[in-house]
Amino acid sequence: MRRYHCPSCQQGLYFDNTACLSCGAELGFDPAAGFLLLDDDTARACANRAIIGCNWVAAGPDGRCLSCAHTAILPNLSVGGNAEKWARLEQAKRAVILMLDRLGLPLVDAAGAPAPVFEFKADPPGPNAPRVLTGHENGTITLNIAEADDAERARIREEMHEPYRTLPGHFRHEVAHHYWDVLTGADPRLLDTLRAVFGDDRQDYGASLAAHYAEGPPADWAERYISAYASSHPWEDFAETWAHVLHVLEGLETAQAFGLIAGSGLPEGGLRAMAAVPMEQLARAWIDLSIALNAVNQAMGHDTFYPFVLSPAIIEKMETVRRLIIEGGQKAP
Ligand SMILES: [Zn+2]
Ligand SMILES: [Zn+2]
Ligand SMILES: [Zn+2]
Repeated sequence: MRRYHCPSCQQGLYFDNTACLSCGAELGFDPAAGFLLLDDDTARACANRAIIGCNWVAAGPDGRCLSCAHTAILPNLSVGGNAEKWARLEQAKRAVILMLDRLGLPLVDAAGAPAPVFEFKADPPGPNAPRVLTGHENGTITLNIAEADDAERARIREEMHEPYRTLPGHFRHEVAHHYWDVLTGADPRLLDTLRAVFGDDRQDYGASLAAHYAEGPPADWAERYISAYASSHPWEDFAETWAHVLHVLEGLETAQAFGLIAGSGLPEGGLRAMAAVPMEQLARAWIDLSIALNAVNQAMGHDTFYPFVLSPAIIEKMETVRRLIIEGGQKAP
């Protein structure tokens, strides 16, 4: 994430600001232009601003912004707490949509409609009702809104023995499944490349996941996979690896914007310029930064900043994803 400034007084802004805390200007965020002063002609607020605090500007004819337009299904907002959960999901999603846009990855389907599409659903009442599963299918990403509840997400993280479970993490993982389909659909030869690196995705997905949950990951998983879950099936390995490439790019750009990686030699020309750097060099800067931030977090009694180990084999997989992103991104930086 780069740093943004108030168009009126140049005060630094957080990505989620709806107004400038210094001069009080009402602001709207435009993915291409940054923060704009809201007015009725050129920059109108997203239709969801009053409901969930979306701070982006209206883009489409329905008055929603570029990010909100990707959401097709909402939970029942008359149920207490659901509007707050929806708001938190959209907050995380906006940052990911912006990132995909800046990387030049397609955000519309062949017909020009928003893609991927998101469905935010709540578990139905009753102990025996089927739970809503977070996942991707045919360009639609479903998220269980319980993930927006910090306590519930922490409980699931413990139960699944995961070192890290966050909303940006969910979005970055799930969009990977969508772009596997989109990019290999556009160029089927990519399948051979991806299968050589991540394994043959034609092995039965349901059976692979069932085996993973029954038997656990292979003993040496940490040398070859970024997470235990990544060892369950080639698609999950790809999605976990893709998510970490996005973590690293977003984390490094943010650190760079605040002068934290000045000696890294990484380019300052935006996210695509950063993504054009070989993964090995990105990983080196990221590991240095992570070691420092892990220590700072420890000093403060917070959880580990980046609780993962990037082995050479994992960095090689990340390089495949990085190249896919750079080559799949069509637009200029
Ligand atoms: Zn201002
Ligand atoms: Zn919006
Ligand atoms: Zn997945």
